[in-house]
Amino acid sequence: MGKTIIKMEKKKRIALIAHDNRKIDLLEWAKFNRDLLAKHELFGTGTTGQLIENELHIKVKKFKSGPLGGDLQVGAKIAEGKIDFLIFFWDPLEPMPHDPDVKALLRIAVVYNIPVANNRASADFIISSPLMSSDYLRELVDYKDRIMKVEGKNLIQT
Ligand code: PGA
Repeated sequence: MGKTIIKMEKKKRIALIAHDNRKIDLLEWAKFNRDLLAKHELFGTGTTGQLIENELHIKVKKFKSGPLGGDLQVGAKIAEGKIDFLIFFWDPLEPMPHDPDVKALLRIAVVYNIPVANNRASADFIISSPLMSSDYLRELVDYKDRIMKVEGKNLIQT
């Protein structure tokens, strides 16, 4: 069975999201890493994206605000192969009305094997990786055999 490989180019497509209590931390991190981030293409949920754009003076492609579906829009772009990695500082202390969306986004990031940082230390390690400035071949786990099986028949065309 052939493996699915997705090529991440040198110029990465990075999604940035932070819950309200984590926005200052993400902004500080983004400001510190501004010159590195400027080499890539940035995406963000509505409020986070606007804040980053204002602070860094770098264009950010903004989706809807997280509670209005922005997290799901980012997830959809990951599934379409249009976002390469995710910096998502979510709030570990406060439940959110859109917790199911957050879970969906984190799940889809795992399904598509993209790098994810949920805190500053992880984001530091990712941004300083030599892979940030080279192509990278991202291999997808083949889940086809585990879905849509009825009585042993695979309903997905392979
Ligand atoms: P925001 O959304 O950037 O629009 O605040 C983030 C979130 O709550 O997921």
